[in-house]
Amino acid sequence: GRVIETPRKRVLLAKPRGYCAGVDRAVQTVEEALKLYGAPIYVRKEIVHNKHVVTTLQAKGAIFVEENEEVPEGSTVIFSAHGVAPVVHDQARERNLKAIDATCPLVTKVHHEAKRFAAEDYDILLIGHEGHEEVIGTSGEAPEHIQLVDGPEGVDAVTVRDPSKVVWLSQTTLSVDETMETVAKLKEKLPLLQSPPSDDICYATQNRQQVMKQIAPECDVILVVGSRNSSNSVRMVEVAVNAGARQGHLIDFAHEIDPGWLADATTVGLSSGASVPEELVTEVLARLAELGFADVEEVVTVQERLTFSLPQELKRDMKAAA
Ligand code: SF4
Repeated sequence: GRVIETPRKRVLLAKPRGYCAGVDRAVQTVEEALKLYGAPIYVRKEIVHNKHVVTTLQAKGAIFVEENEEVPEGSTVIFSAHGVAPVVHDQARERNLKAIDATCPLVTKVHHEAKRFAAEDYDILLIGHEGHEEVIGTSGEAPEHIQLVDGPEGVDAVTVRDPSKVVWLSQTTLSVDETMETVAKLKEKLPLLQSPPSDDICYATQNRQQVMKQIAPECDVILVVGSRNSSNSVRMVEVAVNAGARQGHLIDFAHEIDPGWLADATTVGLSSGASVPEELVTEVLARLAELGFADVEEVVTVQERLTFSLPQELKRDMKAAA
């Protein structure tokens, strides 16, 4: 009779995945500060948007707070990778806090763009997700000049003072395709709209989305390791599903995998967001192997080599203590 071959079950493991240079630096900043000054070290907001990272640092003596007011006067506070409005630095000075700024340099770059265009009295259309910490921080650089555009649906509400003096900027962790859609819609309304001097969506976001697009058409199921509040991780699932993956799931931990998702699957795609430590991916691979997906092929689109040095204020103290 006819031989029916069982399809080979496999995992396509995306690369680049996981930690970006900005997250790596922010996590290291907290770890080094704990070593140098001793616990507790206060961190304003989640240092990066990942549950596992936050609980691991808590166990080492980091205390996460929402605002500077919760930090005892004179203590050390670290600002998260997503950036802060200038007023947050002012408050820290008023409370006599020692502030260490772990804002990703690529977020700081967008802050500088915002300040420059505001100084030239542009209307700035900041494309981003309402309520996200990065957007709150960037908007705080020039609240009178910046209005938020939250996706293509946000375009209708936009009003500007002078249509010949408008520029768009963006959050660093958006979907590249959706942002281009928003920009196209904005340009219909404002033909003289200027673009940012360089890409605001960062290299790590772009690379993680690009490899998702490449593997998605071959995947029955895509798993992205990442937390719900991680913008770039959520976008990776969306990009994968838009690019043809039949199912996409965002999970924080291996135990969240529902075996039902894999029932009819032969190819599972796996990646992780920019705030996700590799150990969580290793655990997912172990779980997938238990579920019959032991065959792993890594798909590499680009090698990332960027690194950022630690914040100046921390480096100075480390040097003095050495
Ligand atoms: Fe920086 Fe991009 Fe990483 Fe955000 S995702 S911390 S902007 S490198």
